[in-house]
Amino acid sequence: MSLVLLAPDRNMQPWKEALLNIDPNLDVEIWPGVSNSEKVQYVVAWNQPKQVLNSYPNLKAVSSLGAGADHLLKDDSLPEDIPICRVVSPSLVSQMKEYVLNAVLNYQRNTHMYAMQKVKGIWEPHPNKSPEEFTIGIMGLGELGRPTATYLAQLEYRVSGWSKSVKNIENVETYSGKEELESFLTGCCLLICMLPLTEETEGILDLDTFKKLKRPGYLINVARGEHLVEEDLIYALDKEWMEGALLDVFSKEPLPESHAFWNREKIMITPHVSSLTPPEEVAPQIVDNYKRALSGMDLKHKVDREKGY
Ligand code: NAP
Repeated sequence: MSLVLLAPDRNMQPWKEALLNIDPNLDVEIWPGVSNSEKVQYVVAWNQPKQVLNSYPNLKAVSSLGAGADHLLKDDSLPEDIPICRVVSPSLVSQMKEYVLNAVLNYQRNTHMYAMQKVKGIWEPHPNKSPEEFTIGIMGLGELGRPTATYLAQLEYRVSGWSKSVKNIENVETYSGKEELESFLTGCCLLICMLPLTEETEGILDLDTFKKLKRPGYLINVARGEHLVEEDLIYALDKEWMEGALLDVFSKEPLPESHAFWNREKIMITPHVSSLTPPEEVAPQIVDNYKRALSGMDLKHKVDREKGY
C-alpha cells in the first residue's frame, strides 16, 4: 500500500516529511519515483500530467493538493468511480483574507496607479477612495469567499456576494443563481472572483460582465485563469470601463514571457500566491482521508463530481 505525491512542478519533499511526521509507518513515494504501480492506493495531485492516474490499478481515491480540484475533474485518465477530495485549512482562508484586504487597500489608496507612475517618474496625487464610494462584489461564497466577505464587512466595507445557492450572511448583500447575476454585477465596481472552475464558470469574467460593473470597475482574480477572457479584460481597460486588475492566476502558468499582460500598466500580477497550502497543516487531513479510503469510508472534503466542485 502506498501513497503517491504527484506534483511535477512542486518540491514534494516537505510534504513527504510532513506526512511521515504524522505516521512514520506510511509508505510515501514522490512521483515519478514510484517503485510498484500496483501498490499505489492513494494519490495527492497537483497539475498532474495526463495518463498517469490510470496507471494505478488499485487506486482507491485521489486528493487535490490544494482547495481547487478542477485539474482532477478534467483529467480523463482518472476513472469515474474514484472519489476525489480536496484540502481545506484555516491558513488557506487567512492567507486569502490578507491578500484580498491588501488588494482592496491598494485599490482604495491608488497604490496600483502610483506603481505605474513611479516607472514613468510622474508625481500626481489621486483622491483616496472612501469605503462608502464603492461596493466590493465577491463571486463565490464557499470556504474562501464567505469568510472573506464577512471579514471585509466587519471592516465596514460595503460587500455583496454571489453564489449558486441562496446564502444569508450578516452585513453582506447576497445574490444567487444566473437570474441574479446581473443585479449583483450592476451594484458593484470592485469584483473579486473566488469561484471554482467549472463548465458554468469558465469565461465568466468577460466583456458582458465588465460592462455591467459600475464604472470604472476593478477586477481581482484569485480563482483560476480560465475564468477570465483575457482579450476582453484588455479591451475593457482600453475603453476605461475598467480601471485596473490584479491577477493571481492565469490560464498558462508561469505566465509566458511574451504574454500581453506583462506590458499592461493597469494589470498587476502575482504568481499564484494568494493562498498557499501549508504541508504541516494539511498533512493530518491527508493521512485521515488516506486511512478512510483504505477502509472504504466516505472521504472528508469530498468533491461533488456532479456539481463540478
Ligand atoms: P468552494 O468552497 O467550493 O466554494 C465555491 C463557491 O462558488 C460556492 O459558494 C458556490 O456556490 C459558488 N459557485 C460555484 N459554481 C457557481 C455558479 N455556477 N454560480 C454561482 N456560484 C457558484 O471553493 P473555495 O474553497 O472557496 O475555493 C474557490 C476557488 O478558489 C477554488 O476552486 C480554487 O480554484 C481557488 N483557489 C485559489 C487559490 C490561489 O492561491 N489563487 C487558493 C485556493 C483556492 P454554493 O455555495 O451555492 O455551492
